[in-house]
Amino acid sequence: MRIVLVGPPGAGKGTQAAFLAKNLSIPHISTGDLFRANISQQTELGKLAKSFMDKGELVPDEVTIAMAKDRMEQPDAASGFLLDGFPRNVSQAEALDEMLTSEGMKLDAVLDLEVPEDEVVKRIAGRRICRNDSSHVFHVSYKAPKDEGVCDVCGGELYQRDDDSEETVRKRLEVYHTQTEPIIDYYKAQGLVVTISALGKVEEVTVRAMEALKRKDDDK
Ligand code: ADP
Ligand code: AMP
Repeated sequence: MRIVLVGPPGAGKGTQAAFLAKNLSIPHISTGDLFRANISQQTELGKLAKSFMDKGELVPDEVTIAMAKDRMEQPDAASGFLLDGFPRNVSQAEALDEMLTSEGMKLDAVLDLEVPEDEVVKRIAGRRICRNDSSHVFHVSYKAPKDEGVCDVCGGELYQRDDDSEETVRKRLEVYHTQTEPIIDYYKAQGLVVTISALGKVEEVTVRAMEALKRKDDDK
């Protein structure tokens, strides 16, 4: 399956993607994680991306699309992928469509995670991620690691993302509403959107998501 996850920052996209990708045996592709890996490796792309990420702005389309395309062309993504954080505006969605069409492929579903803004703010405020791998995600109260400040998965140090500060989060939410939300209508026009509530326990949301994706697949 080729799936796009959408939802505001802090909705739980990365958390759900980890489980869904495993259940569906497809790679989880997060452009945010790819940028953070570039930042920790101090690449030129990482330096450029950080200057936008720290302000809560989108990294320019040209570099983002090239990076996402390169990742989607890796052999492990040949039979499907779960995109998290890409596309993030209508130009990126159009570029993805062009890329898939040129390969004779198409998306199967766009899973839209709905969470009220006050909950998103609480989720982001308590988020802690691993220095070794930013897809290892915890929360100080909702998903506390066994040992405080230590990643359960790999033992790495947990830290708070620079862009999870209150001011940057406000900007990221604004960017979500103005630039990313329009892709939901773009994909609705293609009949691809399934919306679920992302409130409740992580496992409950995963079950809801799997059921919604199955319904979408049965509809085909
Ligand atoms: P996103 O990728 O959409 O920005 P994350 O997956 O990083 O969101 O989740 C944001 C924070 O909320 C993390 O700290 C995560 O542990 C926590 N979280 C995710 N899903 C839930 C949930 N269903 N209930 C409570 N907290 C959650
Ligand atoms: P995320 O990890 O998805 O919350 O993304 C963190 C930050 O990375 C965003 O606030 C953007 O600055 C940048 N980013 C991630 N994905 C994209 C994208 N598709 N387009 C532009 N910027 C992105």
